[in-house]
Amino acid sequence: MTDDQNRSSWDHYWMILAYAASARASCERKRVGAVIVKDGRIISTGYNGQVAGQPHCPGQHVCNKDGRGCQNTIHAEVNALFQSSIQEMRGASIYITMTPCDKCLDYIANCGIKTIYYNEEYRIPTSKEKLDSLGMTMTEVKIDGLETLLHHLYKSKDQNNDS
Ligand SMILES: [Zn+2]
Ligand SMILES: [Zn+2]
Repeated sequence: MTDDQNRSSWDHYWMILAYAASARASCERKRVGAVIVKDGRIISTGYNGQVAGQPHCPGQHVCNKDGRGCQNTIHAEVNALFQSSIQEMRGASIYITMTPCDKCLDYIANCGIKTIYYNEEYRIPTSKEKLDSLGMTMTEVKIDGLETLLHHLYKSKDQNNDS
């Protein structure tokens, strides 16, 4: 195997960085990370977390009450969108560890991002018709050894439990 074959593709590279961002998430049900990329550079990152100053998920009755998912966090992709400008985001791509929910898909579309990469699928599937009507594409990026990576990423967070 040559050096080049050992190198991570760009898609893998950005997705691994999205997982690195997810280690900062403060929801006990699910950690999600997002990275927005344009012209080969990161313009923003985000992870799911509470509104600034509000309590974290552990112990919050709104996190996965009755199995309805977390009502206590701002989603990772939205936090990433907040950290950038509309001018920068036009024509960018977003790498999200999990496919977006319906609302986040709307927000991503309105920021002019047409290309989504993901690894895991959200419990509610993204509508193919909606993606098509918005002129957007969504492509799966698989990461070899993801469980090992997450074990290391999340373990170091748990050991360093600051907010
Ligand atoms: Zn939560
Ligand atoms: Zn969402």
